[in-house]
Amino acid sequence: MIEDMLRTPSAVRDAERYTAHNYHPLPVVVASAEGAWLTDVDGRRYLDCLAGYSALNFGHRHPALIRAAHEQLDRLTLTSRAFIHDQFADFCRELAALCGKDLVLPMNTGAEAVETGIKVARKWGYQVKKVTPGQANIVVADGNFHGRTTTIVSFSTDADARADFGPYTPGFTVVPYGDLAALEAAIDENTVAVLLEPIQGEQGVVLPPEGYLPGVRRACTDRNVLFIADEIQSGLGRTGRTFACDHEGVVPDMYLLGKALGGGIVPVSAVAADADVLGVLRPGQHGSTFGGNPLACAVGTGVVRLLATGEFQRRSAELGDRLRAGLEGLLGSGLVAVRVRGLWAGVDIDPALMTGRQACERLMDRGVLAKDTHGSTIRLAPPLVITSDEIDHAVAQLAAVLAG
Ligand SMILES: *Cc1c(COP(=O)(O)O)cnc(C)c1O
Repeated sequence: MIEDMLRTPSAVRDAERYTAHNYHPLPVVVASAEGAWLTDVDGRRYLDCLAGYSALNFGHRHPALIRAAHEQLDRLTLTSRAFIHDQFADFCRELAALCGKDLVLPMNTGAEAVETGIKVARKWGYQVKKVTPGQANIVVADGNFHGRTTTIVSFSTDADARADFGPYTPGFTVVPYGDLAALEAAIDENTVAVLLEPIQGEQGVVLPPEGYLPGVRRACTDRNVLFIADEIQSGLGRTGRTFACDHEGVVPDMYLLGKALGGGIVPVSAVAADADVLGVLRPGQHGSTFGGNPLACAVGTGVVRLLATGEFQRRSAELGDRLRAGLEGLLGSGLVAVRVRGLWAGVDIDPALMTGRQACERLMDRGVLAKDTHGSTIRLAPPLVITSDEIDHAVAQLAAVLAG
């Protein structure tokens, strides 16, 4: 095709011209998608190895979720929480059951789920644990990613995420991720919660040392502190289990969920916890106009039912083994480290070869879309509907890129 007949260049230019530059997207303009595949405005096809940062765990336009959305669009889309609608109870009950918790509180975006968790933990601290008024603190980990609100970036350790957005919200203590002794030392009488990602996705799919999460669980129980697991990216089948915490048999006091909960169709997030924790909220103390709306609940219930079968978790575990084997085969041939759990991989490219960004651009030219994170690290998180042949294809394209 002749270059100036392509629609992509002008579409990229227009997208750049009329938006704040808070992202640096790959120069691909997607027009449609199905399952694990995307098609751009010029008809080129790409294997999706990012899956909307795991918001598309069930692939693009999963038929059961699209059906649920269409049916709901034709009946009722919004009531606000001033009234109860007929999709609400099923969603909350089935999600609570999936989480093994008494209650859920639905919100929209992941950051809102995190904010909700922080508010609930503080209120629980004052009302139940009886910490000193105004002095509640929450222990978090360095390298964290919990979202982009002013409170959340207050305890980010990433300069890009944090610098020039102060004054910062106090009440957070940052400790090294994976260091149990440091975490235990940071807990004091006013600590209400430990907030962690069981695997740090944005940091490059960083797995804590074995035994860390059970140790955190024990420390929280011993010191009467809530363990809040941010499973927004790691949860809902991504790692081969329903939750990343499941790999070590750990049950947190609170799950924060988002991304895949909306089936890649609408933003849906939630906090799940038992009644002694979420029960501290009374009418008027928290809320959201769109939180738990009928369309979100209809899609969210569809998501929970897909997960309730266990099929996606199984696929993720089995295909993850294949992905791991493929990627480990590239160690020493351009890759210096590989971290895999389920269908979630962080790979570190030899920085002498190329940056993560360059690798992703070259993968794009070969029909595979992935995203770099820090420096020379790229993250692979394909939809869980990907096939083993497609995984082999993605690994082969990465091998070709690394071979130059
Ligand atoms: C994406 C993400 C968030 C924030 O979710 P948004 O929907 O972008 O607000 C929070 N925590 C983790 C671990 C995430 O991956």
